[in-house]
Amino acid sequence: QTEFANKQILVLGAGISGLSVAKILRQLGARVIISDAKSIDQFDQDFSELQAAGIALVLGNQNEKLLDDIDYLVVSPGISIYIPLVVTAKKRGICVMSEVEVAYRLSEAPMIAITGTNGKTTTTTLVGEMLKTTGHQVGVGGNIGDALSEQALASRSDGFVVAEISSFQLEGVSEFRPHIAAILNLTPDHLDRHHTMAVYQQMKEQVFSRQEASDYLILNYDDMAVRDMAKRAKGKVVYFSRQQRLAAGIYIENGTMKINLDGNSSEICAVNDIKIKGGHNVENALAACGVAYFAGVRPEAMAEVLKTFSGVEHRIELTAEIAGIAYYNDSKATNPESAIKALEAFDGHIILIAGGRDKNTDLTAFMKLAKERVDHLILLGEALQRFAEAATLQGVNNIHKVATFAEAVTLAHKLAQPPQVVVLSPACASYDMFNNYEERGKAFKDLVRQLG
Ligand code: ADP
Repeated sequence: QTEFANKQILVLGAGISGLSVAKILRQLGARVIISDAKSIDQFDQDFSELQAAGIALVLGNQNEKLLDDIDYLVVSPGISIYIPLVVTAKKRGICVMSEVEVAYRLSEAPMIAITGTNGKTTTTTLVGEMLKTTGHQVGVGGNIGDALSEQALASRSDGFVVAEISSFQLEGVSEFRPHIAAILNLTPDHLDRHHTMAVYQQMKEQVFSRQEASDYLILNYDDMAVRDMAKRAKGKVVYFSRQQRLAAGIYIENGTMKINLDGNSSEICAVNDIKIKGGHNVENALAACGVAYFAGVRPEAMAEVLKTFSGVEHRIELTAEIAGIAYYNDSKATNPESAIKALEAFDGHIILIAGGRDKNTDLTAFMKLAKERVDHLILLGEALQRFAEAATLQGVNNIHKVATFAEAVTLAHKLAQPPQVVVLSPACASYDMFNNYEERGKAFKDLVRQLG
């Protein structure tokens, strides 16, 4: 029996995370209410299974009456802990938790937590793949796969739960103590919600603030704010660096990734053998190796994963190679900063498909880089006109305008000559043509496969 049995629990947010955690808590014998500020017509799904499970659903206006007799308040990642309802709950002494905290309390397996501004999903996935080679049971969750609380509940003491953790989820932790934690980088992001960089940093540090001497903390040596966190660490700190050869840690020497820990140095593989593209992914790979090392993965197994893993779906994902041309799906790049990462990942010869719902972001840096690296720029979607103007202004070569994704892929196929690559990296949201970036990426991949 867990601590949640017979407790009265209010779950805020009827999204994927909220629904999963509610069902699990119900299974564990809690009385559960889910509340969402949205009204019923703002949801696509029907909630009949909640009723069958005996979970109460309260939609629309949320008032303090909801807190009466509540023991635990579980806050979904999309909801801020600064909203009045949560503040009042805390004042009343109700235990406020994020899903990560629930998962931590349910997990039999040691937890591995990966956080940072960028690269979380990729690194978490890599770690999951590396751990699977050990034959132990591995649950991977957070933003990816099944809900973290489900993975935690299904875990066994000889396995691992690998969690992708956003700073939002770290707002609601109180006992959470991952055995291995990694912080990838820290750049100003989400400041709308955390107010200042200092608060944001403090949130991120929750990932290791309850660690003890027997735990591990993997930090990016190249990011000053992250490097500095070692001062406040209580577990063993291990650095990774893409830029410097370290006295100990995970780093690159003569183009080879090395792991040098506990007085032993081993080669992992050549940087060029890492299948996922881009310098940012080298950082993710280094971090993943650091985490995997302390979970008992051998360097050869790390290398095997790095050489074969073709990327998380929609993130510079290698879709197919057709007549010597590689096609990459980077539909997740919904802003110019992310699309720049994609352009940087290849040394030129790019046929770039871009455009979608315009976010009116500054395109100068993006188009400057496109001028250097893009041979053909194929534009579509609502942003077409503004993107075409910005591209012309920076002197980008060969700008093409098309109306549909089918046309874009057909044209790319017609134009492409080795050593060119075709990359969908839209630098825009998808909502002008699709429900989300995942649908856009899938549509692209279907079209590419039809070419083959
Ligand atoms: P997250 O889960 O943190 O959003 P992802 O692994 O999904 O990160 O990658 C999303 C995008 O973030 C990538 O397409 C790339 O543009 C960028 N990115 C990934 N890893 C890094 C990194 N280590 N440093 C900087 N940017 C990165």
